[in-house]
Amino acid sequence: MDLGLTGKTAIVCAASKGLGRACALSLAREGVELVITARTASELEKTAAEISKETGVKVTPVAGDISTEEGRAAALAACPAPDILVNNAGGPPPGDFRDWDREDWIKAIDANMLAPIFLIKSVVDGMCDRKFGRIVNITSASVKSPIPVLGMSNGARAGLTGFVAGLARQVARHNVVINNLLPGPFLTDRLRSGAAHEAGKRNVAVDDVIAERAKATPTGRVGDPAEFGDACAFLCSAKIGFIVGHNLLLDGGGFNSSIA
Ligand code: NAP
Repeated sequence: MDLGLTGKTAIVCAASKGLGRACALSLAREGVELVITARTASELEKTAAEISKETGVKVTPVAGDISTEEGRAAALAACPAPDILVNNAGGPPPGDFRDWDREDWIKAIDANMLAPIFLIKSVVDGMCDRKFGRIVNITSASVKSPIPVLGMSNGARAGLTGFVAGLARQVARHNVVINNLLPGPFLTDRLRSGAAHEAGKRNVAVDDVIAERAKATPTGRVGDPAEFGDACAFLCSAKIGFIVGHNLLLDGGGFNSSIA
């Protein structure tokens, strides 16, 4: 299927590695010109060059922290009127909520709730005027099934989800659609560091924890970031204007429900 994206432009946040990178690559394969962001300039530039080399599309790296005003302004300066916005940032650390103070919570809310909301605010009216927009927020399976050690992630992402549910229905008439992608376990640095945290507590090998996570899904494996990237490109397609305000779980069937 031709997704109808050739010549479109996108900002993909937090995209030097992992799920963000996979989304950027899948969009580039569809002919989307990209601005990608991450904090570490060297990694980001390497990724931009790799994606550009493979796909032949223009990929502009903009280094910065997307949870800050400056980071968002830099990305928007490089692409003020994107057709597509993929919101993403690193996830909050695991832990016990008794150890988290206000500062910790503000960091999580800034990165995983307010950064996407302010980026949406910056681009959504222009998308409505141009009668095309696709916004995908990378959240987490924890939105549907909270993960006890990731309390800040559970909380901040739930806030974003609630906001998006309302806004998605206000802009859909302009062919601007907003959906969320909810990753379960995907083999990225984030998964490895979470597994390392758990392995340390249980005094077992990190690979054993990852193998347990794989076994816990009906697919018997963890996800490949490339699968996530392709799902993202699909949700950015010109042909999906009737898919509005969804929370699409990509978790290998791990969420046990008659209606996922
Ligand atoms: P990852 O492999 O660790 O990659 C994170 C990417 O985001 C890197 O490019 C990183 O580069 C960038 N980044 C992090 N914080 C940033 C910030 N404040 N501003 C700009 N760029 C930033 O993580 P991932 O697995 O792809 O996870 C992506 C999101 O999905 C996270 O929120 C994570 O919690 C969530 N998630 C992942 C899984 C999973 O299994 N992988 C499951 C559920 C939810 P720099 O460090 O250089 O900035």
